[in-house]
Amino acid sequence: PPTLVWFRDDLRLADNPALTAAAGGDGPVVAVYVLDDESPGVRPLGGASRWWLAGSLRALAADLRARGVHLVLRRGPAAQVVPTLVEEIGAAEVVWNRRYDPAAAAVDDTVADALAARGVGVASFQASLLVEPAQMRTKTGGAYGVFTPFLRALLARPAPRSALPAPKTLRGVAGVPSDRLEDWSLEPTAPDWAAGFRPLWTPGEAAAGARLAAFLDDGLKGYATLRDRPDRTNTSRLSPHLRFGEISPFQIFHAARHAREAGRGGASSQDIDKFIAELVWREFSYHLLDHNPGLATKNYQPRFDAFPWRSDASALHAWQRGETGYPIVDAGMRELWTTGWMHNRVRMVVASFLVKHLLIDWREGERWFWDTLLDADPANNAASWQWVAGSGADAAPYFRIFNPILQGEKFDPDGAYVKHWIPALRGLGAQHVHRPFDMPRLELAAAGVTLGQNYPAPLVDHKVARERALAALAETKA
Ligand code: FAD
Repeated sequence: PPTLVWFRDDLRLADNPALTAAAGGDGPVVAVYVLDDESPGVRPLGGASRWWLAGSLRALAADLRARGVHLVLRRGPAAQVVPTLVEEIGAAEVVWNRRYDPAAAAVDDTVADALAARGVGVASFQASLLVEPAQMRTKTGGAYGVFTPFLRALLARPAPRSALPAPKTLRGVAGVPSDRLEDWSLEPTAPDWAAGFRPLWTPGEAAAGARLAAFLDDGLKGYATLRDRPDRTNTSRLSPHLRFGEISPFQIFHAARHAREAGRGGASSQDIDKFIAELVWREFSYHLLDHNPGLATKNYQPRFDAFPWRSDASALHAWQRGETGYPIVDAGMRELWTTGWMHNRVRMVVASFLVKHLLIDWREGERWFWDTLLDADPANNAASWQWVAGSGADAAPYFRIFNPILQGEKFDPDGAYVKHWIPALRGLGAQHVHRPFDMPRLELAAAGVTLGQNYPAPLVDHKVARERALAALAETKA
């Protein structure tokens, strides 16, 4: 009888322990992906993520087909779909790689129970995190709430296992009915909001590997400092690949360590350590989510429940569209809308602007990111929003309010990033590009900018907004 491999956030053949186990069994292999928007507690993927998923499934299907296995697509609640398929094909065993989002993990438990009740074996594997959340315990046996000790403890453990090669051979089963990917409507038709994604991104395992290699050769050198520069290309942009498991953290970890030993790309130890620390932030986010299943909706620090958020639909809309009048914020939001990705430093700046300058609830921002990011991740997105809002674990304190002008000047010193995303500002020099509103109107007009016409006037004054945010915080404390 066949073994069913249930693919989820692990859309790859290499370093896929569930697939490797199935390949090593006696029977043939059936591979399935289930689009599940219905199981209780499961958050449907956002629009950008659905676009990525379509490409990723296409790539996975082609890679499997080359090895004689047809990827079966099914849609519906996994607790029904998986046992039904098991029955159809007469599978003796189902294998998968574990998920760490508590809602998804609960679905997996339900499926495992349903299969056990039918006498079907289940085996699950660790593939998506270097260390599983439950393996990380503080000295007193609790969960970590602070990053640095978490990082230290993780690095003090035995080195993560090495990455597995893709199975050399697989034996498939013909004729298992499948949905057609096109019928899932994962990609936009009209309007085609994904037009800006295509030139930049190639979903799939091969592209993920190529991106890692290119980063190790050309981007990692200088990462420790240049990773904060949105005008540079010194971050890996692996996040959507990692989100969908086209590449594993084990593969990245070992490749980075190996790059250090081999002196590849001229990166320093600091560059590599910093890069690994960022990978561990992802582990930390999952650790937090594991202990706080409501991380995307509930303040980690309950005192923020009393925070006087403003409801302001037009300000929210201006933020979403990159029309706040603060160039670094607007450039970031336009980058996000056009490309489905935003540089980490700019994510921090735009998030801070929403929750502090506009006093809009971080959950509004989390939702917008969930829908527009290709790498929208249940742990990283929620944990990062709470981190910026000050309501999270080990968070930046709320009273530390980013000045969007100074952030722009510091991290985009020539204004190249801003000018790329906001053509109206291309005539401005570096000294003005992050603060067009401080320029005499005539000079500004000579450079081609009229505030309120081809670029918005600031939605709020920085000093006023800062005072208002601090007053709101004081109210929360009282
Ligand atoms: P690199 O710098 O090359 O890092 C390599 C990998 O490490 C990333 O792909 C990512 O998996 C992980 N990583 C890097 N920085 C962080 C971080 N600060 N926190 C957690 N993991 C990190 N990341 C997501 O993957 N999905 C999200 O939905 C997401 N939402 C965010 C929302 C906000 C408000 C903020 C401030 C950050 C968010 N991040 C999110 C974290 C970070 O911005 C992205 O992981 C990073 O920008 C991805 O680019 P990269 O792959 O080039 O990163």
